[in-house]
Amino acid sequence: MRLSPSLALVASLQFGLAGSRDCHVYALRGETGMILIDAGAGMQVEDLLRNLQADFPTVPLTAVLVTHCHLDHCGGAAALKEKTGCILVAPECSRRILESGDEEASGLRVAREQGIYPPDFQLAPCPVDITVRDGQTFSVDGTEFTALQVRGHSEDSFCFVVEIDGQKCLFSGDAVFYGGVLGVINAEGSGMEGYRRDLHKLKGLEIQGLFPGHGLFTLRDGQKHLDCALQQTGKGFLARQIGQGELLF
Ligand SMILES: [Zn+2]
Repeated sequence: MRLSPSLALVASLQFGLAGSRDCHVYALRGETGMILIDAGAGMQVEDLLRNLQADFPTVPLTAVLVTHCHLDHCGGAAALKEKTGCILVAPECSRRILESGDEEASGLRVAREQGIYPPDFQLAPCPVDITVRDGQTFSVDGTEFTALQVRGHSEDSFCFVVEIDGQKCLFSGDAVFYGGVLGVINAEGSGMEGYRRDLHKLKGLEIQGLFPGHGLFTLRDGQKHLDCALQQTGKGFLARQIGQGELLF
């Protein structure tokens, strides 16, 4: 599903694209090929690649950049790499989890017990080619990204700032959603403590396109949504959280 001349949504459980457990997987046009932001859960990788081909015919997949290592975001990385030869770019702190297929840290063991994934579903270990750190500006297939670690949803949660079709955009993973919703969940490594330390990094970025891992996204005035969360937490209150009321992802 094309969102702009250089951007498409190629998998998403909510929009019925590719896998039924996939987060939003965005495809961004790089210099020589496509860069995926997150990999989905990996249960319907063929469908994801078919969507990618439909949106950007004959353009090869060159890289996958993951925002954090929860299963719905990174589970497809190994299969995508195997099928296309693309590289995997990930936060330095996610490397061990991705390369060992750690079922605890990726949330797989708990999610399997909750019935979210089939009992025999496993996380395929996947070598990481390039790691990135908080504050680092790095280039993937000729496209420049800035990495911002925003803990709170998980210890390894990252957001990526990038210019798309002349607009400053943010891939926010599960750190911040449309409407200023934050991603605290009842899981190891998640809590407001992380947001207290890191949310300020999203101040004053003048983001236009805001592309989270779930829920709505927007091509315009994305900073407004980030500011909602910043204002609420800045006054000492909790921001709205996923899983509450209508905010079921
Ligand atoms: Zn997550």
